[in-house]
Amino acid sequence: MDEHIKTLADLMTTSRYTVALTGAGISTSAGIPDFRGERGIYITRQYDPEKTFDITSFQRDPSSFYAFTRDFFNQFKTLQPTPAHRFLARLEEAGLLHFIMTQNIDGLHHAAGSKQVIELHGSYRTGRCLSCGAERDLAWIKERISSTGSLECPCGGITKPDIVFFGEPVHGMEASYREALKADLFLVLGSSLTVTPAALLPEVSRGKVVIVNKGLTAFPSSKTTLFLDGDLDEICRRTARALSIPL
Ligand SMILES: [Zn+2]
Repeated sequence: MDEHIKTLADLMTTSRYTVALTGAGISTSAGIPDFRGERGIYITRQYDPEKTFDITSFQRDPSSFYAFTRDFFNQFKTLQPTPAHRFLARLEEAGLLHFIMTQNIDGLHHAAGSKQVIELHGSYRTGRCLSCGAERDLAWIKERISSTGSLECPCGGITKPDIVFFGEPVHGMEASYREALKADLFLVLGSSLTVTPAALLPEVSRGKVVIVNKGLTAFPSSKTTLFLDGDLDEICRRTARALSIPL
């Protein structure tokens, strides 16, 4: 492993333009269950994701999504970015990372201080009333869900946070392709690369692909320059040390 950490650190310092794609695995140590995992809230709280995140069901009756949102904010009250999130933010500050694309909706990259981030599946940081078009921010969404249990707009319409529902296009895909094409180093952290279209991004990149994940991914090993299988936070801590970057 030491040798792999050194190789990763060397790749980071010698690359011209580095981007990162992150998935659920970067947030699990923050206490966020992989939603679809065994202890995920889809299972333990018995949400049916097909219904909760279906735009037609939502427009007809948003109560399942609002219940999910209440649980989401309760669970996330004490949430802090992980060492891996902090590592990526420090890399950006040091000029060693240029862009993050994430499949997560938890906002933890922003919380860690990262600036150049595309949230492919959206986030709760913004939202909009489907009737009057009023734009809302995270503070409004949080306050409204905790005080009323719903996201009803004063106009009587329903507010939809900018989370990508099933059947909706992911956010920032064109920009993500541009970033992937620009990169000579493409890092994948905590994604099993099974969910498209995000999983296609390392495929289109002409750069070297480094995967840091607990367990194998769907990405072909023949196209992988380096694969580090293990605890993400630990690998990020050790790589930060190798780069003399304080976390
Ligand atoms: Zn409204």
